Amino acid sequence: MAAQQPERGVELDNSQFCCAVCLELLKEPVTIHCGHSYCRSCIEGCWDQEKKKGKYSCPQCRETFNSRPALRRNNMLAEVMARKVKVPRKQYV
Ligand SMILES: [Zn+2]
Ligand SMILES: [Zn+2]
Repeated sequence: MAAQQPERGVELDNSQFCCAVCLELLKEPVTIHCGHSYCRSCIEGCWDQEKKKGKYSCPQCRETFNSRPALRRNNMLAEVMARKVKVPRKQYV
């Protein structure tokens, strides 16, 4: 008989939910055209700096956009993040 395998695949890799700019869990996740996600404030901050260059790029894949893309909230991620945040931490002292 097969040994009982610990259930895998349910747990999501945290790195998917990390912002490449601040390296923390996404706060108010937004997804840009290339498919990468950032905290709204992080990507806004990046693009504020790039404004003088006249083009905007994705900090992760360097895809550039000629006009500042509209930021759309990623509802799916926001929901996942909300759920993750609700998980009680065990490390309270
Ligand atoms: Zn961030
Ligand atoms: Zn990208």
